[in-house]
Amino acid sequence: MLRLEDYEKIIEKCSHCSYCQSTCPSYLTEQSESSVAKNRLLIIKETLMHKNLPFTPRAQEILDNCLLCTNCTQTCSSKVPIDDIIIAARIKMGQKGVGGIKQFVMGKMLTQRGLTGALGKAGSLAQKLGIATKEIPQLASKSFDKMYSGTYTPAGTIKKRVAYFVGCGTNFIFPDTGEAVVKVLNHNGIEVIIPEGQVCCGIPALGEGDLEGARSMVETNIKLFAELDVDAIVTDCTSCGMMFKEKAAKCLPDDDPLQEKIAAVTAKIWEVTDYLQNQGLEAAPGPLDVTWSYHVPCHRGWSPTVKDAPRQLLAQIPDAKLREFDNPEQCCGGAGTYFMEHREIAEKIRASRLEDVNNTVSDVILTQCPVCRFYIGFQVMDREVTHPIKILARAYGL
Ligand code: SF4
Ligand code: SF4
Repeated sequence: MLRLEDYEKIIEKCSHCSYCQSTCPSYLTEQSESSVAKNRLLIIKETLMHKNLPFTPRAQEILDNCLLCTNCTQTCSSKVPIDDIIIAARIKMGQKGVGGIKQFVMGKMLTQRGLTGALGKAGSLAQKLGIATKEIPQLASKSFDKMYSGTYTPAGTIKKRVAYFVGCGTNFIFPDTGEAVVKVLNHNGIEVIIPEGQVCCGIPALGEGDLEGARSMVETNIKLFAELDVDAIVTDCTSCGMMFKEKAAKCLPDDDPLQEKIAAVTAKIWEVTDYLQNQGLEAAPGPLDVTWSYHVPCHRGWSPTVKDAPRQLLAQIPDAKLREFDNPEQCCGGAGTYFMEHREIAEKIRASRLEDVNNTVSDVILTQCPVCRFYIGFQVMDREVTHPIKILARAYGL
């Protein structure tokens, strides 16, 4: 479970090698030593854990400035789960009353399916909270769950049956991704079940230190998906996938009776392009004259194959050509709600990312993360930014 006390020994594994420095977007942008993961850990250890130093507003700011991108965890030579420790620290900060109303509201704002229109209200809410930004994603005219729910059966033989976890980004902002997921899976002989009652995966709440909120969402989703007789559970969002695969179990005590169901669901979770590439395409895609570039989402560490899945899958489309970015894994700065709360630094991180994007000539930019999609998309006017599954759908003529 994400209790700071449980990381007292693990935090000592940091050897101060500084490998984490080279991949931290906030350090690379601010060039501030305090932003390096090893130093964030040191602050947590000396203030919140051992209480040798007071927990000052500056200490809080340093922990708040972390994007929870997980790049440090992925590169750490000692396998320290840095992002988990920072989340545990934020939970502790919340328990101490640090973070207050802003943490509560930001934690809730994007997380509850029942809060239809939450994103629509986000602009004015953000302004009231002093986190004004012109760049608030627009809600789709009709959310995905208003158009799709229940079972979608392919024509012909059913090869596999999957359940589809629909993240909030797809549900509220990009239902086009969800439509492509259903159609492409059906086209490949895969039955798709979209259970009613699913809620946000919980990652925005967890990132804000709202363990209770995240736990409640995990419980709802796990109870729903564990009951289904399916071969796999797919999501189109890499952050939702990470939440299910790596974080859900940590939201509950180790001996909680639900852990067994969490393990069963976790074992079946796939990002959709990763799943299709792993299964192999049943239907051959037609030619599509398109040059595409691929922005790899930061939340890729939970699957050894997810970051290459779009490359391998779309390589099967005749005439489609991949033009790689120089740094396809460079963070865009969006990071869930980070771009609203930390506008200045997020924009600097994105400006750095856009140099590479603008130097790479292609027709379309692809990424599996809805936040990367809109946050890069706000500044890229000459090209479409979309999910890789949409290109496959087009190659099938769907
Ligand atoms: S999670 Fe990302 S932003 Fe936070 S310390 Fe690690 S690399 Fe830096
Ligand atoms: S890479 Fe890991 S072990 Fe090395 S300094 Fe960073 S946190 Fe410590």
